[in-house]
Amino acid sequence: MEEVELVIVGAGPTGLFATFCAGLRMIKSVTLEATGKYGGQMSELYPQKIVYDMQAIPKMRAADIVERLYQQSQMFKNRVESDSDVTDIILGRDKRFVIEVNNKQKYVSRAVLICAGIGKFVPNRLNIPGESDYENKGVFYTVKNVGDFSDKDVVIMGGGDSAFDYAMQIEPVARSVTIVHHNNFLKAAEKTVEQARSKRKINIVLNHDAKEIVGDGRAVSRITIADNATGIKKNLDAGAIVVAIGHQAKPDAFKSLSLETEGRYIKVDSSYKTNIDGMYAAGDIANIGSEQKMALLSLGGGEAYTAINNIKKYLSPTASLFGGHSTSLNL
Ligand SMILES: Cc1cc2nc3c(=O)[nH]c(=O)nc-3n(C[C@H](O)[C@H](O)[C@H](O)COP(=O)(O)OP(=O)(O)OC[C@H]3O[C@@H](n4cnc5c(N)ncnc54)[C@H](O)[C@@H]3O)c2cc1C
Repeated sequence: MEEVELVIVGAGPTGLFATFCAGLRMIKSVTLEATGKYGGQMSELYPQKIVYDMQAIPKMRAADIVERLYQQSQMFKNRVESDSDVTDIILGRDKRFVIEVNNKQKYVSRAVLICAGIGKFVPNRLNIPGESDYENKGVFYTVKNVGDFSDKDVVIMGGGDSAFDYAMQIEPVARSVTIVHHNNFLKAAEKTVEQARSKRKINIVLNHDAKEIVGDGRAVSRITIADNATGIKKNLDAGAIVVAIGHQAKPDAFKSLSLETEGRYIKVDSSYKTNIDGMYAAGDIANIGSEQKMALLSLGGGEAYTAINNIKKYLSPTASLFGGHSTSLNL
């Protein structure tokens, strides 16, 4: 097993910025990411959307911000490893953590910072005939590349923000976009719904459920939906189907620890320490006790910086808590 001072779990925006901060404070860390790519929700759920509320970045695509975060994370060459699912963390008698990666014990560390966000992403599925046959053959669970929908009749299942955001992204290139939602009311923000309704190419069908996905074996061609009130079925042409009915967060990595949680959050104090000495959490997964967690990129960054400064003090009690301003450096 390799010994490091700190293991950071998750390379979403919070974990990537924490990696940079760890380097800044000269902490030997490794960051472990379960999926094959960095950026968390930004890469998985909205890579092509524009973010407007990052400090000093008035307007930028999420994927481009991820690229910058990754570059910054590598300034001190602290390692970030993808395809490294943290399957368990065990606290030893010597107060060190044994980190199990892909079900094998791989690292030993004195400190752990959990930046696992909303967990490993598992999309909710419709669970209807044909769905699994056409996954990657026209059935999508996120919109990563708008070009996939060019000149196609696209059906989007869902009535929340993701469904409407995807519709607005796809509409300029698609032949048509039909949003199908199982309720007779929508959950998406009124402004987005209003924008979508104003687009000639976007249709909204309420109170219908998906029943079957059909194609020629190589690509999807239609979806059958049914009216929830009458049961009457109809077929919609579909060159692509986006299932936007949410993702399940699977924060199941830490079964050997008695971490204090509240709902899906890990409880932390103002230093972003959990109830376990040496273990910290930051970003979307951590809650300091506020009534509503503000799940925001810039706040996650601040939490990561605070946690890293406290981790430095934990690892080296004589070190100062505040590491000074980066402008004092000449890198
Ligand atoms: C559609 C949408 C739009 C948004 N728009 C904005 C916006 O405009 N502005 C803004 O500030 N915020 C926005 N957000 C919120 C923002 O994306 C989140 O606050 C941010 O992604 C949280 O970062 P994080 O690193 O804490 O968690 P995440 O982004 O969830 O990343 C966590 C990472 O940890 C990994 N992971 C989880 N478990 C393990 C494990 N056991 N082992 C290894 N790796 C693991 C995951 O794979 C993931 O990569 C938006 C969110 C969504 C869904």
